[in-house]
Amino acid sequence: MPTPPRRQTENHVDLFEYQGKEFFAEYGMPISPGKIAFTVDEAVAAAEELGTPVMVKAQVHTGGRGKAGGVKFAPDMDAVREHATNILGLDIKGHIVGRVWVEKASDIAEEYYASFTLDRSAKKHLGMLSKEGGVEIETVAEENPDAIAKIWVDPVVGLSEQAVRDWVAAARLPEAAVEGSVDILQKLYTAYTDGDADLVEINPLILTPEGKVHVLDAKVTLDGSSEFRHPEYEQYDATQTRDEREAAAHEKGLQYVGLEGSVGVIANGAGLAMSTVDVVNQVGGKPANFLDIGGGANADVMAGALEVINNDPSVKAIFINIFGGITRGEEVAEGIIEAMKRVSIDSPIVVRLDGTNAQEGRDMLAPHLTDRLMMEPTMLSAAEKAVALAGN
Ligand code: GDP
Ligand code: MG
Repeated sequence: MPTPPRRQTENHVDLFEYQGKEFFAEYGMPISPGKIAFTVDEAVAAAEELGTPVMVKAQVHTGGRGKAGGVKFAPDMDAVREHATNILGLDIKGHIVGRVWVEKASDIAEEYYASFTLDRSAKKHLGMLSKEGGVEIETVAEENPDAIAKIWVDPVVGLSEQAVRDWVAAARLPEAAVEGSVDILQKLYTAYTDGDADLVEINPLILTPEGKVHVLDAKVTLDGSSEFRHPEYEQYDATQTRDEREAAAHEKGLQYVGLEGSVGVIANGAGLAMSTVDVVNQVGGKPANFLDIGGGANADVMAGALEVINNDPSVKAIFINIFGGITRGEEVAEGIIEAMKRVSIDSPIVVRLDGTNAQEGRDMLAPHLTDRLMMEPTMLSAAEKAVALAGN
């Protein structure tokens, strides 16, 4: 299976780093003073208020910002201006930076890693702590798994201070970091549970040369289904960069998940959409998305789906895979023909139409076929054609 369509079944709300830090601060964790800025001038004003040196940090819903040039140290105002200019608008793994967090710079003696998430198979919360922080935890897990101390917490029993002390000892954090870490980890657990988070991660958690333990980065994913308990989470929902395509589809009532490839996929039913994604992969292509138009495939739905896909510049070919059930082949054909009149599509379309009244639908489509709209008899041949047209 390729990337699972996560939002299909779950409702995650990802926070920007600065929102994560504000969330942590509400639970009493120590963070650095900082300000959010949407423009270079705002970043400069923020740094003036905070006093240099500062860090200028890209705010995007993805990690690895430092490596991508999105986290910079600014010793003076000229550097603030320069870094803010470079970072705003930067593309970090497909996320365009629209805001930067300007934060008072910290001195670092050591960098650690701490997180809580749910271990579904154990039906417990899983805490991970490592004295090798600052790098991706996946890398530590691969290269030096012993450097990660894990703790499983029964949600009914909770996490005692003694358990945290044992955990910190197991991670072999230095003496100077013990008290600060014990304090922060307990608060982190409270934030994770009381805050209805699916993930809380601090990487790095730092020890300063003065012996203070401090939160330097925050990754928080909230459980969107808990919003009834936390009406204030609506502010985070509003800043979701649910990718644009996803948001547009959402508005049209379509189930959409953005992927990284170049073949746009439209199918009726989640099962068929997933199989279509698999088949595209199988013949050497990369799906650009997963779009389930559900039971109906009338002109409105089809036009909406094509519009969403057409707005994605990474799409080079579109694969419409419909298996008629209650929806009849003629309706589907009608929908495609109508939709193509309404939306001007940039990429060639390959249709595979099967199921109820497929032949009637194919007959209707036949006179409309061009090198922009093609039809293939099977799912496999259609996938092959779409992948070839997408050029991969
Ligand atoms: P990430 O790359 O997206 O994980 O962003 P981080 O916020 O973790 O920053 C990346 C790295 O920049 C950290 O691991 C630190 O080494 C460094 N860094 C971040 N903030 C500071 C700071 O205040 N002072 C110093 N000296 N380094 C920092
Ligand atoms: Mg980090």
